[in-house]
Amino acid sequence: MSRRPLLELSGVEKVYRSGDSELRALDGIDLTIAAGEYVAIIGQSGSGKSTLMNILGCLDRPSAGRYRVAGHDIAAMDADAVAALRRDTFGFVFQRYNLLADASAVENVEVPAIYAGLSRDDREDRALALLDRLGIGDRGGHRPGQLSGGQQQRVSIARALMNDAAVILADEPTGALDSRSGQDVLALLEALHGEGRTIILITHDAEVAARADRIIHIHDGRIVADEVRRAAVAEAEAPTPPPPVRGGSLGGLASVAEAAKMALRSLRTNPFRTALTLLGVVIGVAAVVAMLAIGDGSKRDVMDRMASLGTNLMVIRPGAPGVRPSGDNASLTFADAEALRAVPNVTAVVPERSLSATIRFGGVDYRTSVQATWPAFADARDWPMADGLFFSREDLAAYAPVVVLGQTVARTLFPDGRSPVGEYVLIRNVPFEVVGVLAAKGASAFGRDEDDIALVPLSTGRTRLFGGDYVNGITVRVADTALNPQTQAAMTELLTARHGSEDFRIRDTASLLETAERTQNTLTVMLGSVALISLLVGGIGVMNIMLVSVTERTREIGVRMATGARMTDILLQFNTEAIVVCGIGGLLGIAFGLAAAWTASVFGVSVVYSPWPPLLAFSCAFVTGLVFGYLPARKAARLDPVVALASE
Ligand code: ADP
Ligand code: MG
Repeated sequence: MSRRPLLELSGVEKVYRSGDSELRALDGIDLTIAAGEYVAIIGQSGSGKSTLMNILGCLDRPSAGRYRVAGHDIAAMDADAVAALRRDTFGFVFQRYNLLADASAVENVEVPAIYAGLSRDDREDRALALLDRLGIGDRGGHRPGQLSGGQQQRVSIARALMNDAAVILADEPTGALDSRSGQDVLALLEALHGEGRTIILITHDAEVAARADRIIHIHDGRIVADEVRRAAVAEAEAPTPPPPVRGGSLGGLASVAEAAKMALRSLRTNPFRTALTLLGVVIGVAAVVAMLAIGDGSKRDVMDRMASLGTNLMVIRPGAPGVRPSGDNASLTFADAEALRAVPNVTAVVPERSLSATIRFGGVDYRTSVQATWPAFADARDWPMADGLFFSREDLAAYAPVVVLGQTVARTLFPDGRSPVGEYVLIRNVPFEVVGVLAAKGASAFGRDEDDIALVPLSTGRTRLFGGDYVNGITVRVADTALNPQTQAAMTELLTARHGSEDFRIRDTASLLETAERTQNTLTVMLGSVALISLLVGGIGVMNIMLVSVTERTREIGVRMATGARMTDILLQFNTEAIVVCGIGGLLGIAFGLAAAWTASVFGVSVVYSPWPPLLAFSCAFVTGLVFGYLPARKAARLDPVVALASE
C-alpha cells in the first residue's frame, strides 16, 4: 500500500481502572489506515472494538501510545482542537442512532453544522439535500420517534455527512436493524466509500465485515489478523481531511442566538416543568416590582404630607434632649411663648396645650383631642377654614368660651350636615360656642387623623378646662429658613437663660423631613430585600431543575460533543437555557408585579411606578440565570463524551 496514512495508531493502550482492578481494553494496537480505505473491525463482544473506535474518532484519548490524524499528534492538541477535529473530520454512526428526541430529522442533521458556524439557511438547505439523497427527504419534519429504525439510521448517517466528514466511523450500524434496512445502510456506506470517504465499520458479524476491503480482527484488545481483500481506490480520489483547526465556531452573538433557540426548544418540550421553574422567578420579580412600587408610593405620601407642613416651622417640646418626656413635664410655659416672639426671624409663635376631653352636642358624646392654643395656629399650620372663622386675639384676651372644630369632630357631632357655627357644645361640661370648622386635612404622616381635633383659646382653656401654666409644645414659624441654625441658637439661649438649664428640645421640620425620608428609605430597602430573597429562592429552583435537566440529557450532551461541540458550546447552551428561563420569568414577573401594584392602587394604596424597580428586578433575574445556571452548565460541559454517550 503506497498511500498516505491518514490515521496512525502506534502502541495504543487503553486501561480502565476501577479501584484496585484494572482492565486492559486495548493492549498495544499498531494500526495505520489510509485515506479512502473501507475497513471493518471485527471481534467478539467485549474485545475492545468500541474502545478502539472512540479513540479513532477522538472521543477518547489513549492511556498510552500515540495516535496521529493526518500527521498531527492528538496528545499535543487541547480539548477545543480535538473538538474541531471531531467536528470537521469525523462522522459518527451509532448502533442506537443517538438522535435528539425533541428535534426533527432536519434539526438533528443540522447539529454538527451549528458548531461549524454554518448560517441557518445554508444549514437547512444542506440538511434537506442530504436527507433527500438518503431517500428520506419527505421525513424532514418528523421526530425520531416517528421514524423507523432504518430511517433513523439514515438520519444519523446524514448527520455524519453534514460537515462533509472525510472519515465515517460506524459502530455496529446495522446491529439494531432488520436485515433489509441493514442492507440499505451498508449500501449507503459503500456509496460513501465510492465517493472516496474513509469508512471504518465495526461489527461482530462476519457477513457484514466481508463487504469491506480490509478486515481487522481484534481479540482481547489486540489485533490478531489484518486481511486486505481488495485493492484500494486510486489515491487521487481520496479527499484529504482538513488540517485540525482551532475554534472556528459561530461568532459570539450568533452562537448566543443559536443557544437561545435551542434553549427555547428544550423548554417547550417540557412545558409543565418549565412553568414550575418559571414560577419561582416570576414570584420573585413580581414581589420586587410590587414591593418597591408600594414602598415608593408610601414614601411619596409621607414626604408630601411632611412637606405640606412647610419647612419654616420649628417645634419646641419640654424635656431635655435625649430624655423622653415623662408625665406632666412642666418646663415650657406661656411666658416662654411670649418671650420667644421677640427672637429675630420668628414670625409666629403658637403654644399648644392638649388634653383628651369629651365634647357633647345634643345626645352625642365624642372624645377628642382638645388643643388650647393661640390664634396664630391656623396661620402657622396653613390650615384653611371650611366654615366660620378661627378665634381671634380678642377672643383670647377676653377668655371667650369659643371652639373651632376639626372635620371629624364636626361631622360626628353634626351628622345631619348642618353648619355647627353658632351652636353650643359642652367640653367637660363647660359650654363653648362653635365659631368655625377647619378644612379637612386627612391622615397625618404617621397615620393619625389630623381632623380629630377641637381648638380653644389658650386663655379660656387654662381657666375653664385645666390649670397650670405649662404647655405641651410651642410651634415657631420663621421668616427665612436659611437662618434656621441661628434662630435655633437664639431660642436655645433665651430659653436656657429663662429656665436655668436646657430642659427642652427644638427641632425644625426640615430635619424631621430628613428623618422621615431615612425611615422610609430603610423601609423600602427592607421590602426590596425580602423580595430579592424570594428571587434568590427562585434562582435556586432554577439551578435545581437545570441540574436534573443535565442529568437527563447526558446522552444529548454526548451526541453534541461527538458532533463537534466544544466545552464552551455546551456551557453556553446550558447557561443560556437558565438565562432564558430567568429572562422569561423576569418579563412575566414584571407584568404580574405591575398588575399587583395597580390592583393595590385600586384599593387606595398609593403606588409610584418608576422604571428602576422593573429594571432592577429584571437584571437580578438575568444575573440569577447566569449565576445559578453556571454550575449545571459547567457540569454538562465537563462531561466526558464517551461516558455521556454511554449513558442511558
Ligand atoms: P466491544 O465494543 O468490542 O464490545 P468495548 O470496547 O466496549 O467492547 O469494551 C472493551 C472492554 O472494556 C470490555 O471488557 C468493557 O467491559 C470494558 N470497558 C469499556 N468501556 C469501559 C469503561 N468506561 N469503564 C470500564 N470498562 C470499560
Ligand atoms: Mg461495542
